[in-house]
Amino acid sequence: AELTEHFLGRIGDHDGALNSLISVCEERAREQAAAVDKQGSGTLAGLPILHKDIFCTQGVRTSCGSRMLDNFVAPYDADAVERLDRAGTVTLGKANMDEFAMGSSNENSFYGPVKNPWNNACVPGGSSGGSAAAVAAGLAPAATGTDTGGSIRQPAALCGVTGIKPTYGRVSRYGMIAFASSLDQGGCIARSAEDCAQVLQAMAGFDARDSTSVERDVPDYAAALTGDIAGLRIGLPKEYFAEGLQDESRRVLETAIAQLEQRGAVVVDIELPHTELALSTYYVLAPAEASSNLARFDGVRYGYRCANPVDLEDLYTRSRGEGFGREVQRRIMIGAYVLSAGYYDAYYLKAQKTRRLIANDFHAAFTDVDLIAAPVTQAPAFRLGEMVDDPVSMYLNDVYTLPASLAGIPGMSVPAGFVDGLPVGLQLLAPWFEEGRLLNAAHAFQ
Ligand code: GLN
Repeated sequence: AELTEHFLGRIGDHDGALNSLISVCEERAREQAAAVDKQGSGTLAGLPILHKDIFCTQGVRTSCGSRMLDNFVAPYDADAVERLDRAGTVTLGKANMDEFAMGSSNENSFYGPVKNPWNNACVPGGSSGGSAAAVAAGLAPAATGTDTGGSIRQPAALCGVTGIKPTYGRVSRYGMIAFASSLDQGGCIARSAEDCAQVLQAMAGFDARDSTSVERDVPDYAAALTGDIAGLRIGLPKEYFAEGLQDESRRVLETAIAQLEQRGAVVVDIELPHTELALSTYYVLAPAEASSNLARFDGVRYGYRCANPVDLEDLYTRSRGEGFGREVQRRIMIGAYVLSAGYYDAYYLKAQKTRRLIANDFHAAFTDVDLIAAPVTQAPAFRLGEMVDDPVSMYLNDVYTLPASLAGIPGMSVPAGFVDGLPVGLQLLAPWFEEGRLLNAAHAFQ
């Protein structure tokens, strides 16, 4: 209860300036905390936490950052929420996010942009920008997030906190509102690899309610944190350190990599030759899946409904036209286009093939190295408003995070240093299911 009061107090004092939360669950949090104090059990007993507003929380509004779901109170808990509840966490509230997790700056939220706690004129990154900003500002010790193309790693990097996107299939997608189902993966953001290990441990595991959930034991992540990385082979992909990476950020990353070497890691140069295909591959596949997933929001069963529809077509058209923001509409149109009969082979099918080439690059690299180190972003946080009218520049933000999402491999962002007072993140990537190795390398670095 004491911890919960502390963080509710911090939220009350500081969230006005940050806008990192869509809902605060004061009463519910106090009840949960009191219950834990009384019977206290679970590995995370009494740990206050925030959930990205993409995770369904029973009895609590689950908006997904959209006007479409502004009035939606989830009738059930997401699997990840259920597991964390069972581990004893206390839900402080629901974190702000880009609408339907589409974005890299948190400026696409129906509830307004989130501010970067290091500099309120800058973006926190997206789409889990509320989660990252809140943890960075000390409004919660940890928060859940989702990563479809970088949405945990990129905001963690821009806010100077630690984030992990586990292997695709590790965390159940049940109750996590779908954006691009073959890419969506739940994970968490916290202040250290150690904290991430504890939270991920509680979130991960097989769930029969998600057909792509992996039936495989979750290892003891905390036990993997030996801090020993002597002899660990870390690959530096030349495509990620090429033109485009800001010089000052490059210097921060070089220092970080030298520190890993000092702790005994062996650094080698590697190639991931299909990296340049990732952006176009992702921005065909993710919108295609989104256009299909978002077809369910039709104004009929739940969510936003336009006023006084004259017929069914008018109901669909105006409910979707008024309920979805511009970026979501853009994605739906791109997706419908690439899936249409005449263009399917040229775009969608082609993108499925290039996706495989990108995944194969990683699998080939991991025959030689244990981990890959790379930048998360080309530069630190940019200014609010700087890119809102330029979707292609915004998409370019994701060049270093998309490949791992397309390959389904686990990835982390670890704070590496600062440029002009703004944090820079180091990205670490591992083979499928090697979250323990990833967390240990991050822990050794921290
Ligand atoms: N920025 C990317 C997009 O807009 C990734 C988002 C995500 O990972 N959810 O699609």
